[in-house]
Amino acid sequence: MNGIIFDIKEFSLNDGAGIRTTVFMKGCPLRCVWCHNPEGLSPHRELFVKTKGCVHCGLCKKSCQHPECQGLGRCLHICPNNLVSAAGEVISSDELAKKLLKYDRLYSLSGGGVTLSGGEPLMQPEFCEELLLKLSKISTAIETSGFADEAVFRRICGLVSFVYMDIKLMDPQKHRTYTGVGNSQILENAKWLKKSGIPHTFRTPLIPGITDTPENLSAIAAFVSGDSWEKLPYNALAAAKYPGVGRKFLYSPENPGSESLESE
Ligand code: SF4
Ligand code: SF4
Repeated sequence: MNGIIFDIKEFSLNDGAGIRTTVFMKGCPLRCVWCHNPEGLSPHRELFVKTKGCVHCGLCKKSCQHPECQGLGRCLHICPNNLVSAAGEVISSDELAKKLLKYDRLYSLSGGGVTLSGGEPLMQPEFCEELLLKLSKISTAIETSGFADEAVFRRICGLVSFVYMDIKLMDPQKHRTYTGVGNSQILENAKWLKKSGIPHTFRTPLIPGITDTPENLSAIAAFVSGDSWEKLPYNALAAAKYPGVGRKFLYSPENPGSESLESE
């Protein structure tokens, strides 16, 4: 089976225990206004052009015959500053598992493994399931928003060694305003995870003026009630990537409630 990914980060120390390889799965059903991976939102392969360093020579806009450039509207190979690329690689579970398992000894020596991140891995549940079964001899983790059908959530969480799950906002209306979806399914999945016995940590990105308010953090603290809970700092560099995939960054720490969410 094929899936679509937008990055593989080797030797990662930030996505779980030990030395890990993190796979970024493409596609997410949420639209968090602060998202720092805009190239991971669409579930489709897309053009990704870095704007910094462009000398506006126009070379990439001329038609080319490379099969991998077709449908993107630009040539991926001609830019003198190497600014034009495609976000999204279709890959089979066999090929990806083979890439990931080449470091299996390093994982076992360091207590690490493979982490599925995104985007939202649970948007590709069959692919994740097939991949995780091929990785069953190593430690695996998933980073998820928890926004998924409960059967999918339980099935995939049951296949990994560790779950990192976001709890962003407890207020349902604010959750909808700032992420584009309600939080009832997420909280139901989180309640199941708490009781499941699967090792897990809840995570809250600290977004100034949105998630870092005393009311929200108190409500999340009450909800997680003693479970492991990490607060992650806001990534102020997120905005720079948005023009590269033709999106507008809607969040401003100075004026966090000023923009409405985009729709697709
Ligand atoms: S080829 Fe590179 S430098 Fe020239 S217009 Fe395209 S992105 Fe800009
Ligand atoms: S859940 Fe994560 S990947 Fe999806 S929009 Fe929110 S921050 Fe971005």
